[in-house]
Amino acid sequence: MKKKIVIALGGNALGNTLEEQMSAVKATAKAIVDLIEDGNEVVISHGNGPQVGMINVAMSELHNLHSKYSLCPMSVCVAMSQGYVGYDLQNQIKEELLNRNINKGVATIITQVEVNPKDSAFENPTKPIGSFMTKEESEVAIKNGDKVVEDSGRGYRRIVASPKPISIVEIETIKSLISAGQVVIACGGGGIPVIKEGNKLRGVEAVIDKDFASCTLAKELGADCLIILTAVEKVAINFGTENEKWLNEVTTFDMKKYVEEGHFAPGSMRPKVEAAIDFASSKEDRYALITLLEKAKDGISRKTGTRIK
Ligand code: ADP
Ligand code: MG
Repeated sequence: MKKKIVIALGGNALGNTLEEQMSAVKATAKAIVDLIEDGNEVVISHGNGPQVGMINVAMSELHNLHSKYSLCPMSVCVAMSQGYVGYDLQNQIKEELLNRNINKGVATIITQVEVNPKDSAFENPTKPIGSFMTKEESEVAIKNGDKVVEDSGRGYRRIVASPKPISIVEIETIKSLISAGQVVIACGGGGIPVIKEGNKLRGVEAVIDKDFASCTLAKELGADCLIILTAVEKVAINFGTENEKWLNEVTTFDMKKYVEEGHFAPGSMRPKVEAAIDFASSKEDRYALITLLEKAKDGISRKTGTRIK
């Protein structure tokens, strides 16, 4: 049966460098077009950790070398990363569609996502951004107004807030394109975080978790299914221990209990599980799936993956 699916791509679907992304996206495009070929309506979102980190470092270096270029705001770095990742994705997906004689347009929407200026995340920044710095470099960053933390003996890193998404600003544009049969890439890197000031939307120094933004996108689109593709085939409880147990089909009720028991690492598996619970409990007949890129199709047909319902 034809379904409306939001696919959230994780780090391993995109790679870490320009070359890695080029080749990773080829495989990613194949997996996505498999689902389109089956008649599903597919909307794609993606993470941007390494990409936004690279852009952020490049823009900071530019500022260090030539002071006439001011520091690039995080919101602009996220916008650049959406353009960069979106370009590779739409290029490869289009090629794969043509290879299979499917006539469909593919477009990336630079997406802004509204956040609440009173979100408690702004008082307590948690998200490390960019490359590791030496103590000296961290002092310069602090002078430039950044918040910096020491990261478990590996060096210093800049941290920014990770507020919760409220709504997708470009949702009507995305819906129009989907109605016209187009493949849409949206909410890259969790979207560009903006706050509403009357008619004005102002970009803020923050990054939104891509799993939460993908959940908001899927709910606003009325999707049937949210697929979170990551580096593991299934989610486990007691992960990495001898009592490790891989999960197949789980109710949102049981999954909430596992979250409370601390089975999922914050910043990696936990936001995925929380986004999956949020989406699956938002309406009857909705489910979320967490699995590997290559297993997306098998996951939909209940052969593998962790299904949260
Ligand atoms: P992505 O880049 O796809 O967003 P992350 O690397 O942030 O993904 O998170 C996925 C990783 O989370 C897995 O590769 C795995 O090592 C880790 N992980 C932490 N807790 C669990 C768990 N309970 N079950 C499965 N994987 C887990
Ligand atoms: Mg990762």
